[in-house]
Amino acid sequence: MSFENFVALCGITSLLAYIVDKSINDVVQKFLMIPDAEQNSIFRMFSQLLMLLSVQFGVTSLESEERYKMIFSISWMMGISVLSKINAQICQKLVSLSIMGNVSYNNHARALTVAFLTLIISSTWLTFIFNSYVSENWLFPVTIFNIEILISLTISLVIYVLNLIHYHCCTVWYELYDYIYYLQSLKSIVTLVLAVVVFAKGFYKLFESGSILRLLFLFVHFYHNVWCQIVLGWGLLKKRKLIYDCVNSLPIATTEEVTEMGGCCVICLNDVAKHIVCVTRCNHFFHSYCLRKWLNERRTCPICHRIILTLINTDAEEPVRARERRRVHTH
Ligand SMILES: [Zn+2]
Ligand SMILES: [Zn+2]
Repeated sequence: MSFENFVALCGITSLLAYIVDKSINDVVQKFLMIPDAEQNSIFRMFSQLLMLLSVQFGVTSLESEERYKMIFSISWMMGISVLSKINAQICQKLVSLSIMGNVSYNNHARALTVAFLTLIISSTWLTFIFNSYVSENWLFPVTIFNIEILISLTISLVIYVLNLIHYHCCTVWYELYDYIYYLQSLKSIVTLVLAVVVFAKGFYKLFESGSILRLLFLFVHFYHNVWCQIVLGWGLLKKRKLIYDCVNSLPIATTEEVTEMGGCCVICLNDVAKHIVCVTRCNHFFHSYCLRKWLNERRTCPICHRIILTLINTDAEEPVRARERRRVHTH
């Protein structure tokens, strides 16, 4: 492997990354009307991934025929990472579209088109792999990533439909927030389990080959797909517990108080009498479910903008006082 070959390889991989970025991601992002902000990171990711894969597969030290075979397998890996990236964008887009509500049908149609195309490509790819009976090492991660795309996109579509039903349905659906949380947790768990499977398989192969580069590749995979996922999931779990503790520590308004207050909950704009109502320290009242949903996005009171989340949790006495107040109210 000469220095010239290595430089040529760098050139080819960067060019390939540039073409992929320009031709596929650009088109998809424009079609979905996503701002340009993410593009640089995608380009960087491809360049790094390509370099990493080239080194991992030892492309540079192979004979020319073998090299083409390797480049072919790298192309498949590249393809699946493009599809994964598009999948991540479309999942995010679907959820944000369904939450916003007053978005044009054009936006929905574009997002659904990309979602269904992704589903079709991914399932066709999987069927092809299962029918081809070729057993190559690199087919394993491609298969796993395709399975991940199918599962996560299906879950995102379910969340999208649930949010839309909620938006267009006249009745208030307070439990929706919990259902969506469970669905998102399921998606994270599936992603994590599949990443661990890829890691375990790679680890097993590491003992066979003993390659330092494979170890490096495994380390990067473990850090990004396993460790960061666990940290993210743990952070979300902690946040959810904090929000639950916070809302549970607030006094609940009695039936008399609710009748006296009247009006609507400013978060869902529905009659306060429709569900359990809690009173914040700044003396504003909201449905408990609505406040939990609100605190997931912001930590301040929707009316007076005083901080609700930290106020209660940093003040050790507050939950006690709140409980006392609740006791007084319920008597
Ligand atoms: Zn409400
Ligand atoms: Zn307030």
